Amino acid sequence: MKLLQERIRKDGMVKNGNVLKVDSFLNHQMDMDLFNEIGKEFKRIFSDCEINKILTIEASGIGIACIAAQYFKVPVVFAKKAQSINIEGEVYSTKIESFTHRKTYDVIVSKKFLSKEDKVLIIDDFLANGCALAGLVELVRSAGATVEGTGIVIEKGFQNGGDMIRSMGVRLESLAIIESMNGEDGSIIFRD
Ligand code: 5GP
Repeated sequence: MKLLQERIRKDGMVKNGNVLKVDSFLNHQMDMDLFNEIGKEFKRIFSDCEINKILTIEASGIGIACIAAQYFKVPVVFAKKAQSINIEGEVYSTKIESFTHRKTYDVIVSKKFLSKEDKVLIIDDFLANGCALAGLVELVRSAGATVEGTGIVIEKGFQNGGDMIRSMGVRLESLAIIESMNGEDGSIIFRD
């Protein structure tokens, strides 16, 4: 998605440790015009899928998922980071290791909001090592629901999450894939 690549080039900041900061437009301050274009693009890409629910994870995925959901006209469920091992029986749960915080969370979704009839599109802001996305896929599958696809705004193609998710037999569509980035000079190369 050209518009997104241009924005990442203009306002993204490459940090040490393979972290790209996009907090001026994506995951702290949020540019709604850009979000609308992102939502439309997800709808265009997944127009061949029958989707009745969007699943994301708090916090950064929520805004993106909500705007996208307006194009799909479906509800959004977000997985909650529970930070507690006292998981009750009424939830689906999995463990996710945060790439940015280097911490492991229990992530939960109420059984009320995912069932075997659901055809789910999973949306998130970043794909790095794939732990977050793999956890969400596992949550959907543990509910007996179907993962119709996964939509990522920025995939860091030099990390192994993309390969891992695709090898699980899951359709993965990323709006921008970064081939490489350099913390020294701030350069970013995109995959075509
Ligand atoms: P993964 O589980 O794929 O390793 O990491 C995915 C999660 O980590 C995303 O939900 C995102 O919040 C965060 N993340 C991973 N890499 C980056 C990055 O380069 N920049 C930012 N801002 N967040 C990232």
